[in-house]
Amino acid sequence: MHVHAHPDDESSKGAASTAMYVAQGVDVHVATCTGGERGSILNPKMDRPGILENIHEIRRQEMERARDILGISQDWLGFVDSGWPEGDPKPPLPEGCFGLVDVEVGAEPLVRLIREFRPHVLTTYDENGGYPHPDHIMCHKISVEAFHAAGDPERYPDAGEPWQPLKLYYQHGHSRPKAVALHEAMLAHGLESPWAERLKDWEERPDWDARVTTKVPCSDYFGVRDQALLAHATQIDPDGWFFSIPREVQAETWPTEDFELVVSHVASTTPEDDLFAGITDPA
Ligand SMILES: [Zn+2]
Repeated sequence: MHVHAHPDDESSKGAASTAMYVAQGVDVHVATCTGGERGSILNPKMDRPGILENIHEIRRQEMERARDILGISQDWLGFVDSGWPEGDPKPPLPEGCFGLVDVEVGAEPLVRLIREFRPHVLTTYDENGGYPHPDHIMCHKISVEAFHAAGDPERYPDAGEPWQPLKLYYQHGHSRPKAVALHEAMLAHGLESPWAERLKDWEERPDWDARVTTKVPCSDYFGVRDQALLAHATQIDPDGWFFSIPREVQAETWPTEDFELVVSHVASTTPEDDLFAGITDPA
């Protein structure tokens, strides 16, 4: 089970390994915390009348297409997108948004879902949200709370029969070392690198990069990942920078999706290359 903040996060983070596990017969479920209601239109081709007014419904339809492409099941936790706070100083978060919920209130529907779906593995973002969107940080908080509480009969007693997932991971998909490797590979192929500008203001975080424990080889599924991303048409520009990196270059340069094993209730030694390493009896 992957916990994500917005529709499209399941396609931009860990989607190729998701598709690979689905192909292997794993049931993958995505819990989407918010409806992405405060998302902007990030694809100029979709910036036309009738889209922004209906963004909530349109993003639901985009999510349906993405989940069909990835072969997953998915649930909405039902919280309202906080939006990306812009300005200096940043404005207060809008009333009632996900970023402001009490952690226990936010975790309750997720505990319920974990107890229903009974995942062996749970993934979420690290304590900084991967990037500091208030919804991503709250996604981290409720996921960690739910991971620890779901197996405890005294916690959330009205949210179903206890179930303890065995491993908790943080997503480490967007790292500076990966961006540097792709940048250099693009230049080596005589191609223009979309990372040149981005890398300038991207602070080195060797402490964070060193936390990766688990690199899942999944380059055969980069194509499925790309189709799932494109299903989020309001959010993803097919002519945008991401798609300017040929898939072959990605596959030869960085063929894995990367995770950090944070808690394990099974014997597993890191580094690993499989989120299910050490889980020998799926029953
Ligand atoms: Zn997001």
